[in-house]
Amino acid sequence: MSGLFSAAFLRQIGWDVDVYERSSVELVGRGAGITGHPELLEALEASGAGTKDLGIEVPKRMSIDRQGRVTDERPLRQILTSWDRLQRILRDTIDPAHYHLGRAFERVEQDGSGVRVHFSDGRIEQADLLVGGDGIRSSVRAQVAPELQPIYAGYYIWRGAPNESDLAPETLRNIYPYFTFFLPERQQVIGYPISGFDNDLRPGHRRYNFIWYRVADADQLREMCVDENGVQHEHSVPPPLIRKDLVAQMYKDAREILPEVLLDSVLKIIQPFITPIYDFTAPRIVFGRVAMVGDAAANARPHMGFGMAKAGGDAQALARALRDHDDVDTALKAYNAERQPIGNTIVMHGRKLGTHLGVDLKTEDDRRMHQLLQSDGAMLDWVAVPNFLDAYR
Ligand SMILES: Cc1cc2nc3c(=O)[nH]c(=O)nc-3n(C[C@H](O)[C@H](O)[C@H](O)COP(=O)(O)OP(=O)(O)OC[C@H]3O[C@@H](n4cnc5c(N)ncnc54)[C@H](O)[C@@H]3O)c2cc1C
Repeated sequence: MSGLFSAAFLRQIGWDVDVYERSSVELVGRGAGITGHPELLEALEASGAGTKDLGIEVPKRMSIDRQGRVTDERPLRQILTSWDRLQRILRDTIDPAHYHLGRAFERVEQDGSGVRVHFSDGRIEQADLLVGGDGIRSSVRAQVAPELQPIYAGYYIWRGAPNESDLAPETLRNIYPYFTFFLPERQQVIGYPISGFDNDLRPGHRRYNFIWYRVADADQLREMCVDENGVQHEHSVPPPLIRKDLVAQMYKDAREILPEVLLDSVLKIIQPFITPIYDFTAPRIVFGRVAMVGDAAANARPHMGFGMAKAGGDAQALARALRDHDDVDTALKAYNAERQPIGNTIVMHGRKLGTHLGVDLKTEDDRRMHQLLQSDGAMLDWVAVPNFLDAYR
């Protein structure tokens, strides 16, 4: 997404841009839900992607208890969209001739005034600038700053997106239309509606975004990264290879812990998957003629639902700096000065919200925040709310 945003904004200021994507097939079918923060909507409008039919609007957020009774609520209109939808509309801003699938970055050489980028298929491209928008495990960053590594937060998420049509009538009536929280000790379950495949927004054809945060230390995570065939993976296991005993244990826990309406949604997930949570920040996000954007530049825990908005903001700031400075290197310095601190702030804010789970509470502030977030109402006030960055301005 940060790559597509960058291409859109750089083309607006007259640059020739090509996007190189490792995957050899179009990226579709990812079920993740995305919170429509004002910054994201603004970036989508400014990029030319627009916000038409972006997602589903929820009127409020609420928390429920084990019996499914509402414990607290807040009116808050939010548009909830999906990764698929954003990918589609951003992808449409790029001329297909300049979007290249099946091109995996391998290495970059720099000579002070430009880059030579080598791809795994042996091809080489020359450019004034390389924008590294290749995610939290960025191979661009691994080359320019191999010492910088994401840090595991001590918890992970079980996720999935069941079809609306498979959910029970009580689930559809009681929680489906809202942003819903269930908050047992040291866990968070969050659910909200998202569009169906191919951005289907018709009632009955949509999906439900289910997220369940669970604590596991690094050793436990490593054990969870052994797949169904006994192969150890480094960071996460592709969904179809997640061990059956882990899925069975998750369902067993779900039966013991979750209210009926959330249990119904977890049981209807066709392919549950695991996402470990990491913090990543870098002391700088520009390395000569290589500029990092999106998760490759800074990756926050997903409690704010802000990764996509940050990707758009990084890309916008990069293009603005290049537009406002005649010299590319001065522009990149200005980009670094503007966005590196913002990335840091977002990651720190994510850590703050993550204290809810009671992992690695190091300071008095961590413990105070952890205490504050033990109330359902406080979580409704803090998690994935709009304009949280205003407090830091
Ligand atoms: C559980 C969870 C919930 C989230 N919820 C939200 C939310 O509600 N709202 C929100 O805004 N964000 C959310 N996010 C974050 C959001 O998904 C990311 O911040 C966003 O996708 C940033 O995108 P990116 O383009 O920087 O990286 P990515 O989306 O990771 O994209 C990187 C791209 O680079 C490609 N690539 C990788 N290596 C290479 C290579 N060597 N050569 C060529 N291409 C390569 C990959 O195939 C991929 O297409 C969530 C994340 C998680 C884990």
